[in-house]
Amino acid sequence: MKVLVINCGSSSLKFQLIDSESEQCLAKGLCERIGLDGSMTYAPEGGEKVKKAIDMPDHTEAIRLVLEALTNPGTGVVKSLDEIGAVGHRVVHGGEKFAKSVVISEEVLAAVEECNDLAPLHNPANLIGINACKELMPDTPMVGVFDTAFHQTMPEEAYMYGLPYEYYQKYRIRRYGFHGTSHSYVSARAAEVLGRSYEELKIIVCHLGNGASVSAVKNGKCVDTSMGLTPLEGLIMGTRSGDIDPAIIEFIAHKEGRSIDDIMAVLNKKSGVLGLSGNLSSDFRDLEDGYNRGDAGAARAMKTYCYHVAKYIGAYTAAMNGVDVICFTAGIGENAPLVRNLVCGYLGYLGVELDQDANRKRGEDIVITTPGSRTAVMVIPTNEELAIARETVRLVG
Ligand code: ADP
Repeated sequence: MKVLVINCGSSSLKFQLIDSESEQCLAKGLCERIGLDGSMTYAPEGGEKVKKAIDMPDHTEAIRLVLEALTNPGTGVVKSLDEIGAVGHRVVHGGEKFAKSVVISEEVLAAVEECNDLAPLHNPANLIGINACKELMPDTPMVGVFDTAFHQTMPEEAYMYGLPYEYYQKYRIRRYGFHGTSHSYVSARAAEVLGRSYEELKIIVCHLGNGASVSAVKNGKCVDTSMGLTPLEGLIMGTRSGDIDPAIIEFIAHKEGRSIDDIMAVLNKKSGVLGLSGNLSSDFRDLEDGYNRGDAGAARAMKTYCYHVAKYIGAYTAAMNGVDVICFTAGIGENAPLVRNLVCGYLGYLGVELDQDANRKRGEDIVITTPGSRTAVMVIPTNEELAIARETVRLVG
C-alpha cells in the first residue's frame, strides 16, 4: 500500500509518500509559509529536489498542490490518487485519551479538538491538515498517530507533578511527553539491531534535535520521559530553556517589567543553547565549530547541554534500576560525535567505552561502544514518517 504521511504545522506542511511493502520513500517535500508568500519543495525518490514559490492561501490548497505534484505526469510518482491507500497524520497531543494510534472518525476529531488546550500551537494545525485531506480525499482512510501516545504507559509517580492534585483533576495537568513516535521507533529498532528481545531490555533514548527529549523504555514500555505538559520541559534545547526553577519567571518579569507571555516567549525562542552561547547560534554545527576554535559561548552552551543529557541518563538509569542500551537519535544525536563524546564522558560508572572510529560514522544503525563496554551506546537514525506509515497500515491495511 502507498501511504501519504502528513505532518501539518500552523504555516507549514511536511509530507512523504511511502510504499509500505518496500518501506521506501517514493517522494517527499515541504510546503512553507502557508497563508503568507508560500513555497513548496518537492523531491521524488532519486530525482531532483525542486523548490518553487507558489501561492497557497490555506492548508487545503497546500495539500491540493502536494497531490498534484505526486500525480504530475512529469515528476509524479503515482498515476492517480486511487493508488494512495491511506493517509497517516502526525498529531502532537492526544492527552490521556489516546494511548495508541487510531483510525480517524468524527468522534476522534472531536476528542483531538478537546486536547487543543494542551497544545494550542500544534493540535489546531494538525486538525486543519486532517480536514483538508478529508475534503480532497473523502474516501481514503486516515489514521492519527500521536506524539504523546507511546508515553501513556508511564506510571503515576513518573507523570504527576508536585502540585495540588485538583489541578490534575480539573485540567489534567501532568507529564505527557512528546517525540513518542521517535522514542518508540528507535528503542524497538535498537533491540532489533542487537538481535535482543525488546521486552527484556532497559533502553534510554536521547532524541536530540531542535526539540530534544530523553525517555526510559523498560521491557518495551515507556516508564519516564523528560518533556512534560508541554515540550518546554526537560533538556536544554536549540532555543528552549528546558528545566528551570519556576520562580525565575516571576523574578525576570519583576526585574524587566515584562509580562508572563513575554517571558514564555524568551523561554521558548531565545533560551537553550542559543541563549547560553550569547546568541551565537542554536545550530550545533556552528556550536561545534565555535567549541573547536575555543569560543567561550559555544563551549559554555555545549558543556551545559551535554551535562544535562548525562544527568537525565543517570536519572533514568535509576528509574529502571539499570540500563542495557543508550541510543542517540535526531539531527544532533545522529550527526554530532562531539556531543556523544561529551555525554559519554560522564558514563564511566556504567562501564561505557566509546569506539571513536564508530562514533565518527554517520547515517547507519550502529553500536558506538567497544565490544567490552558494559553498557552499549548506539546511534539509530530516527524515521518518524516510516513509523507513522507502519501504524497506518497496521490499522487500515
Ligand atoms: P527537528 O526535527 O526537531 O526540527 P532535527 O532532528 O532535524 O530537528 O535536528 C536539527 C538540528 O540538528 C539542527 O539544529 C542542528 O543543530 C543539528 N544538526 C544537523 N546536522 C548536524 C551536523 N552535521 N552536526 C551537528 N549538528 C547537526
